[in-house]
Amino acid sequence: MSGDVWAIVVGAGSGVRFGGDVPKQFRRLAGVPVFRRALRAFVDHPMIDGVVPVIGAADGVRYAETCADPRAMAAVTGGSSRAESVRNALHAIHERGPARVLIHDAARPLVSTRLIERVVRALDAHDAVVPGLAVRDTLKRVDDGLIEDTVDRNGLVAVQTPQGFDYQLLCRAHATDVADTATDDAMLVERLGVPVHVVEGEFVNMKITDPPDLAHAARFLDDGVLETRVGTGFDVHRLEPGDAIVLGGLTLASPARAIGHSDADVALHALTDALLGTLGDGDIGTLFPPSEDRWRGADSALFLREACHRVRARGGELRHLDLTILCERPKIGPHRDAMRARIAAIVELEVARVSVKATTTEQLGFTGRGEGIAAQAVATVGLPVG
Ligand code: MG
Repeated sequence: MSGDVWAIVVGAGSGVRFGGDVPKQFRRLAGVPVFRRALRAFVDHPMIDGVVPVIGAADGVRYAETCADPRAMAAVTGGSSRAESVRNALHAIHERGPARVLIHDAARPLVSTRLIERVVRALDAHDAVVPGLAVRDTLKRVDDGLIEDTVDRNGLVAVQTPQGFDYQLLCRAHATDVADTATDDAMLVERLGVPVHVVEGEFVNMKITDPPDLAHAARFLDDGVLETRVGTGFDVHRLEPGDAIVLGGLTLASPARAIGHSDADVALHALTDALLGTLGDGDIGTLFPPSEDRWRGADSALFLREACHRVRARGGELRHLDLTILCERPKIGPHRDAMRARIAAIVELEVARVSVKATTTEQLGFTGRGEGIAAQAVATVGLPVG
């Protein structure tokens, strides 16, 4: 079977059960909204040809500001039931002629590349595929705090998303009048009498349902999904008399300017090297050789953005940057907040996850004598395990 595979990521719920003003799919998990993580898993996946997010009518601004991905289709507005939301998205992609479609719950942010691949591959042989996990606990039917019965768990699986379907089949299933009572899409296909194939689900592909789930998911992120990598960077530039210096992405009035092939921003260079260090991807000099004319006078934000891109292209995420600038002048204190904000904007991270510090060297050494300026940086990222 061939043809385009589309993914619909459904995040239209208002999350009343979760409490608070922010629906659960927009809560942050280790700094990144749950919805954005779910969306990114499909947008980044080589077997997925198109992605359409479904959002609640009230969430347009929230989605655009925190979750939107330019590689996904514009968000579709959901309906009054989950099934209606899925139907709206099925309709929205109709003209694109999808052959197969995956439906994923935006509240499952830890869906893996492998699981998506497993579902797509199974669609070569089956028209409907769901991931399922064998039930390990003994199940009891309880009434008013008392056990009524032990349920035979033999043959029971807990079903997850993404659920994959032949596009025409799912459209047909959603056209039935029972659609609005269904809790998942497979249920509608089952009712048509079409066999639904089960592939192995993943324990970490949990659904964020209650507030403590965010903490559980964060633990999975640290242990099972992403590993923590730390990289360091260090850079020095010679100074000469001047009236301004480019530092931390800002142009500051200064009695000395830094000499370099690019804009000589020692702070962004140290940060770039720290990020490249987390990947083992060489250093700024190998990626952007001073021997190449095109980097003459270059805005060093380019280098830093490229390092971020490399982390994200590997499925990783930036978690924290810590920068220390070593110089006597200019004084960094008055510019610290602006520098943090500028760096955070370049790397697309919350300001709270960017630290800028400065120290003199007590007039000792080359920085103390004003002959040069130095910066060191530490970057922490999460990278997919394995
Ligand atoms: Mg440099």
